Amino acid sequence: MGAKLLEGRPIALKIKEALKKEIELLKQNYKKTPYFVCIHVGENPASEAYCKAQIKAAEELGILYDLRRLPKETSQEVLIKYIEDLNKDNSVSGIIIQMPLPPQIDGKMISRFIKPEKDIEGLHPENIGNLIFGKKGVVPCTPAAAMELLESTGIDLYGKEAVVVGHSEIVGKPLVLLLLNRFVTTTVCHIATGERGALPEHVARAEVLIVAVGKPNLIKGEWVREDAIVIDIGINRVGDKIVGDVEFDKAAERAGWITPVPGGVGPLTVAMLMRNVVEAFKMQMTSESKQ
Ligand code: NAD
Repeated sequence: MGAKLLEGRPIALKIKEALKKEIELLKQNYKKTPYFVCIHVGENPASEAYCKAQIKAAEELGILYDLRRLPKETSQEVLIKYIEDLNKDNSVSGIIIQMPLPPQIDGKMISRFIKPEKDIEGLHPENIGNLIFGKKGVVPCTPAAAMELLESTGIDLYGKEAVVVGHSEIVGKPLVLLLLNRFVTTTVCHIATGERGALPEHVARAEVLIVAVGKPNLIKGEWVREDAIVIDIGINRVGDKIVGDVEFDKAAERAGWITPVPGGVGPLTVAMLMRNVVEAFKMQMTSESKQ
């Protein structure tokens, strides 16, 4: 393996240490503790794992956390009312809704019912709008994690050629905005690019390659550009193993940097969520003190 490993855990640790100190100061200043609520509708093993990671991180950092479980038959109207009550509750700094949601609820629409300043996933249209204008605020967690990993290489991103594979609302699209805000020349590939057989030619140009699809070994190692930075966001269960979307061993022979899966983006995503809770808390405290 020629590539250096881009591991998420050491960076997550540093971020959490800094957050812990900041939270202590915030508690002293405002006599109030950041507190977020996670709404989990129905049952889903992947969501359970993410909830557990949230609880652990919140406990480590001194953030209050509440997991609210709603039955799988909860209607969209009931969920919206539930969110609106949390919006009105001044003790709640942040709200996260676990995805996927049962089919009777429109998962793509639901974030807009969370008050933007409590939207700790950064998916409310107002927060996505702020991202377009490059305004500081809450940024979707997984794209923010990918940017942290890129920054950690110390490589100047200005003018670099990036290729993002995957254009979902929660990962690919916000990531493109974050890259553009850093003046990275960015190409986005998606299912139609794949169907056209054009992935290899795009991937071959990428000095920065970020993949978020959810298909094991979709990106062949031999396509990867020499010395590229490869961030693999994909999480796929193959037998008893978790693998990414990139053919790791072969890609690692060509890349300059590569994330392991697991152990790359995943551990940083929760740290980014905790950072968003703190940002949301600070925004609310500032606006309360202005009133
Ligand atoms: P999604 O299903 O919403 O989107 C998948 C994207 O891949 C779409 O843009 C689609 O057009 C594209 N695509 C599908 N087949 C393709 C092909 N053959 N060629 C090119 N593009 C193709 O998925 P998502 O929610 O963005 O998640 C993507 C992956 O990232 C999943 O494996 C998910 O588990 C993982 N993920 C990881 C984290 C983390 O914290 N590490 C967070 C979120 C998602």
